[in-house]
Amino acid sequence: MAVQQEMSFLESVDHHFTRAVALLDLPPGLAQLIRECKVVYQLRFPVKIRGEYRVFRGWRAVHSEHRLPAKGGIRYGPMVHQDEVEALAALMSYKCAIVDVPYGGAKGALDINPRDYTDEELEAITRRFAAELIHKAGISPSTDVPGPDMGTGPREMAWILDVYQTLRPDDINAIAVVTGKDPTMSGIAGRREATGRGVVFALREFFRHPEHVRRAGLDGGLADKRVIIQGLGNVGYHAAKILAEEDGAKIIGIVEWDGALYDEKGLDVEAVKAHLAQHRGVKGFAGATYIEDGRRLLEEDCDILIPAALESQITAENAPRIQAKLIVEAANGPTTAAADEILRERGKFIIPDIYANAGGVTVSYFEWIKNLSHIRFGRLERRFEEMRGLQVIEALQSLTGRPVPEAVQRVLTTPASELDLVRSGLDDTMRTAYQQIWEVMERYPKAQDMRTAAFVLAIEKIARAYLQRGIWP
Ligand code: NAD
Repeated sequence: MAVQQEMSFLESVDHHFTRAVALLDLPPGLAQLIRECKVVYQLRFPVKIRGEYRVFRGWRAVHSEHRLPAKGGIRYGPMVHQDEVEALAALMSYKCAIVDVPYGGAKGALDINPRDYTDEELEAITRRFAAELIHKAGISPSTDVPGPDMGTGPREMAWILDVYQTLRPDDINAIAVVTGKDPTMSGIAGRREATGRGVVFALREFFRHPEHVRRAGLDGGLADKRVIIQGLGNVGYHAAKILAEEDGAKIIGIVEWDGALYDEKGLDVEAVKAHLAQHRGVKGFAGATYIEDGRRLLEEDCDILIPAALESQITAENAPRIQAKLIVEAANGPTTAAADEILRERGKFIIPDIYANAGGVTVSYFEWIKNLSHIRFGRLERRFEEMRGLQVIEALQSLTGRPVPEAVQRVLTTPASELDLVRSGLDDTMRTAYQQIWEVMERYPKAQDMRTAAFVLAIEKIARAYLQRGIWP
């Protein structure tokens, strides 16, 4: 199935699905049931801004309902459109299946450039959008749970939650209507960093398999690997920071909307982030080479390229010049289907979006469970664990007649915090899913790239769910 020409984001997702589903023997009609978006709401609503009525346009798409609630972020952007929302909702279905998060897939978007509005105006627009989503698209803790995406964050989630609680005060699980909330608003520790940390957990698992590392044309571990990252937003910033601080990787390039920064010795991620926050761009950052045509840096020599900004960044046009050996898709859909084919032919190793950036929805799932159980993870066990640790220390001392070293005592008596548990659950999820994708590659000789194998894995799981449930006549 050669790709002749550049495709849209939705066509690219469809193309990957078609490639993978062709390897499976599904009952007639089931592939279509899995592939097609089940519901799309287009919402138009007015908000009075600076004395005039402005009409805004938003969407909520639910791609699959084989498990409920459906789950997916809400994106704010000036160029969003329905096809993009449907493509992102489809990716959510496949992503959740791959990491065994029991949700259907959904996505939302609002056609707006947040930079054009004040905080008060954004709050008014978000609150009205939330009311539309509740009344018309039917978001709720049990049917469809939004979270943040590009252009939104804990602040927008708090506004949506507040509107939901005002309109549905009798819903005891109201707090679970959105995820990605601030920890002080019943969010969960580690959600903000989750997608970026998930990307790093995926990379660490890759480097635990020397044969995969060799296949990518690399060697050794993550330390000193030369990394270029596109987008220093929520996902890109955390991935870059953790890779540099915890794994010793060198972030030699950062590509942003207004240009790119390059430093062979490694950029100070924190300093670049501070500059970006203050100046709304990377231009003018001292101590690194500034490149005005930032996308050119995607083609620069490096070990690992991490597109973490937006879709369709690696296309048939620049794919032939990409020099990175390993591409980790932290963004959704950064590689078009045509580019994917070119990169595969060139032997590039791609860790695909539907796996690589699943850390966000995984920790959102933990947050949702926490909200439904109305209790912080670890609250019941912490002192019990501490007491058990003290008992083990006493037993060791009476058996050996020697004091237990202080460092060991500390480990034994320090109970896991919510953040420890979240990171542990995320690490386990990313490792298990990686291994499941590679098991598919062993079972299917024609699924020899991680994207096709990941799609096969997702389709198998969703197909099983639909077949077990049956269809209401
Ligand atoms: P964000 O809005 O926090 O950050 C996006 C960053 O990309 C910003 O720094 C922005 O300035 C930069 N950017 C915008 N246009 C650019 C361009 N043309 N070139 C280079 N940089 C550009 O968004 P985010 O939440 O970090 O999401 C990034 C990607 O990751 C998106 O594709 C999103 O769908 C995906 N994703 C996000 C999450 C999450 O938890 N936030 C989860 C899964 C996937």
